[in-house]
Amino acid sequence: MLVSAAGSTEPDVTRATGAATSAWRAPVADLRVVAPFDAPARPWLAGHRGVDLDAPVGTPVLAPRAGVVTYAGWVVDRPVLTVRHDDGLRSSVEPVDALVEVGARVVAGGVVGLVAEGRTHCTPTCVHWGVRDGDVYLDPMLLLRGATVVLLARRGGPGRRVGVSRGPPR
Ligand SMILES: [Zn+2]
Repeated sequence: MLVSAAGSTEPDVTRATGAATSAWRAPVADLRVVAPFDAPARPWLAGHRGVDLDAPVGTPVLAPRAGVVTYAGWVVDRPVLTVRHDDGLRSSVEPVDALVEVGARVVAGGVVGLVAEGRTHCTPTCVHWGVRDGDVYLDPMLLLRGATVVLLARRGGPGRRVGVSRGPPR
C-alpha cells in the first residue's frame, strides 16, 4: 500500500511498508459498523472522524495494524489508546482500557485493551476507531478493504479532502 499526500512531490517510498506490517484488520473480532466515517466538508466542520463498531463493555480490542503504542490514557471523559504504525499513520480507539503501555510494540490483531465503560458518542456501547495521517482523518473501512489512499490537499481550494483511489497514486 502506498500512501501519499499532495504537497509532497512523489510518493515517499519509505512509507511503503511490507505486508507483514502494513496489513489492517478491524479492532474487534466481530465487525459490525454502527456509524460510518463521515469526512467533514471543511476541516473545522462537524463530521465523524472514524467509524463506530458495535462492541459491548469488556470486548477485547485488537491492534488494527502493527505499530507502537504512543498514547494510553484519558482524553477529557474517555480512555483512548493510540498506536503509531510504521508508516506514520496513527490509529486511535476509544473508550478502551489499555492492557499495554506506551512504547509497547504491538502486532496486528494483538489484544491491546478492553472496551471500557463510560461516556461515548454512540449507544448503547461501541468502540470508535479513527485513523489519522498527520491531522487528516482517513476512512478506516477503506483501509480494511486494502484501498490505496491518496490525500488531496487543495490550498486555497474547497478545503482539504481525502480521496481514495484503487489505482496507482497520482
Ligand atoms: Zn465515532
